[in-house]
Amino acid sequence: MNLSQRLGKIKDMARLDDKDIEPLSSDMDIKIAEMMSENIIGTIKLPVGIATNFLIDGKDYLIPMSIEEPSVVAAASHAAKLARPGGGFKTSYTPSIMIGQIQLMDIKEPAKSMKAILSKTAEIKKHANHQDSVMVKLGGGLIDVEVRDIPSSRGALVIVHLIVDVKDAMGANCVNSMCEGVAPFLEKLTGGRSVLKIISNLSDRRLVKAEATWKKELIGEDVIEGILDAYEFAKVDPYRCATNNKGVMNGIDAVAIATGNDFRALEAGAHAYAARDGYKPLATYKKNRDGDITGSIEMPISVGIVGGATKTNPVAKTSLKIMGIESAHELASVMASVGLANNFAALRAMVSEGIQKGHMRLHAKNIAMSAGASENEASDVAKKMVEKGDISVSRAKEILENIRKNKSFNKVR
Ligand code: NAD
Repeated sequence: MNLSQRLGKIKDMARLDDKDIEPLSSDMDIKIAEMMSENIIGTIKLPVGIATNFLIDGKDYLIPMSIEEPSVVAAASHAAKLARPGGGFKTSYTPSIMIGQIQLMDIKEPAKSMKAILSKTAEIKKHANHQDSVMVKLGGGLIDVEVRDIPSSRGALVIVHLIVDVKDAMGANCVNSMCEGVAPFLEKLTGGRSVLKIISNLSDRRLVKAEATWKKELIGEDVIEGILDAYEFAKVDPYRCATNNKGVMNGIDAVAIATGNDFRALEAGAHAYAARDGYKPLATYKKNRDGDITGSIEMPISVGIVGGATKTNPVAKTSLKIMGIESAHELASVMASVGLANNFAALRAMVSEGIQKGHMRLHAKNIAMSAGASENEASDVAKKMVEKGDISVSRAKEILENIRKNKSFNKVR
């Protein structure tokens, strides 16, 4: 399909109206950008593509992914297609629990103060929940208080954790306000000095799991063995593991950006979680009794469908509508599934035809443009490079020169 056919199709399938479609093909209103950040001089565009074939918890999804890297959307769609005969992706999640940290120092008797803090949980709850009555009305807010005593070179740190249910929000602003709201009470209670009052991005109480099985008849036993070998490599070597997990985040970040979510928070949480017991792959793989391969991912995904830029960025609103997302849990489940799909797709490609074949084919247009091709020339140059099996800037320059020579020759004739 060409671009307008694709837009028409998504409009029909996701039941969008013209108002929803409009932000996809127009520049972000500079006035909206000015509300989002500071010292604005413009906006930068990123492509938004649709990943297809995703069957997640029995529901079909079309998934907007915003990413500049070629082949990520295609790879996710391909892995999702191969997962369908195995029933697609199955997910589960914990409640939307985030942790806020208050750092207390200069406390004379840490053990005594820690006890005192825990005995005042009800009062702390009052101070915290006072910061966000909307959240409380929705059934969220502070649910517990925990205290830790950590030695440091600058004296004992008494760290208070506010355990907060943030419902359908990402929750950083809400939790940060709660920490700041509670700190003066804790200073008075302990005689200590509060230093930092801030959310933790290691949101290990807000976990999502996704699982999918790829049948051996579809992908081949050799590929399954290859994926298991590759997974072993990532388990034992952080150099490989970093790239492995980057592949997971290719998909997760792309959906985060398309939905206006904070991808830095996701990256921080994902890698901190992966490193909690030595740096490990975010997704695991095993062969089941039938000889098929089951991939499973478990990780923190703190995303919102309210708050942040999810409602201010018009494309984010359209993205949520395309997926028909109704809760932050549902969005996190979709993202975990996409992350698993991208990891599987990369491993499958690397242990079969190699990652570069598909990637470079899709990257060929970018290379053509780096070699100086105009938008009109890029498709022809890319096609010729693929035909010749040599996708490189030097080859692109050569082809471009020939195309231009032929054109001027034809003009003279
Ligand atoms: P927010 O403050 O914009 O919106 C959340 C608020 O929306 C809630 O506090 C609640 O009052 C209200 N709300 C309405 N309906 C709700 C529902 N159904 N469920 C939950 N809340 C509902 O955003 P936020 O989610 O608190 O914070 C996210 C923003 O904070 C992001 O833009 C992020 O980039 C930024 N941020 C992140 C960090 C970090 O990750 N370390 C630090 C600071 C700020």
